[in-house]
Amino acid sequence: MGRLNAFQIYKLLPKTNCKECGESTCMAFATKLLNQERKLDECPILLESKYQANYEQLKELLAPAEGALETGITLDEDLCTGCGNCVVACPPNARVCDACKGGSGPDPSNDKIIFRVLDSKAKIVNLKICRRYEPPITNCRICEMYCPTRAIEILR
Ligand code: SF4
Ligand code: SF4
Ligand code: SF4
Repeated sequence: MGRLNAFQIYKLLPKTNCKECGESTCMAFATKLLNQERKLDECPILLESKYQANYEQLKELLAPAEGALETGITLDEDLCTGCGNCVVACPPNARVCDACKGGSGPDPSNDKIIFRVLDSKAKIVNLKICRRYEPPITNCRICEMYCPTRAIEILR
C-alpha cells in the first residue's frame, strides 16, 4: 500500500453524508481525519455496531507508527523497489545490525532496526532509534537521499 490517502479512509466511512460530524460530506471528514484535524470517534454513525469492522480497520489504518509524526518519515511501498539502500545507508541501522553494516541486510528477528526489506518492499520497523526522534535530534535525511525512487520522503 502506498501513502494513505483520503479516498482509502472515505471508503470505510458510512458514506451517508448525514453531516452529524459537522462536516458537509463524509469525504470532507475523511480529509480531516487524514490531516489529524478530526478524530474517528467524532463520526457517531461509525460507532454503531454495524460499522464495527470498518471502525477497527480505520483505527488500524490511522494509527501512526511510533515516531512517524515526530520524524516526518513516510514510505510509499508502491514506489519502493526493495533495493535495500535505506537499510544499508541509515547510520542507526548499522549501529544495531552488524549484517546491515556489511550490506547483507538485517536478520529477520531483529526488531530494533529502522528499515527491513520484506517481499521486495521496505518496511519501517522501529523509528525510536532514528536520529530525528532520539535525542540529540538532528535533521538527518540520509535515507531520503539514498532512496533512488523517492519512496522515502521526509515531510518536514
Ligand atoms: S457523521 Fe459520519 S457518516 Fe455522517 S457525514 Fe460525518 S463522516 Fe459521514
Ligand atoms: S532520517 Fe537518518 S536516522 Fe532516521 S531513518 Fe533516515 S537515515 Fe536513519
Ligand atoms: S531505498 Fe527506497 S527503493 Fe530502496 S528499499 Fe529503501 S525505500 Fe525501497
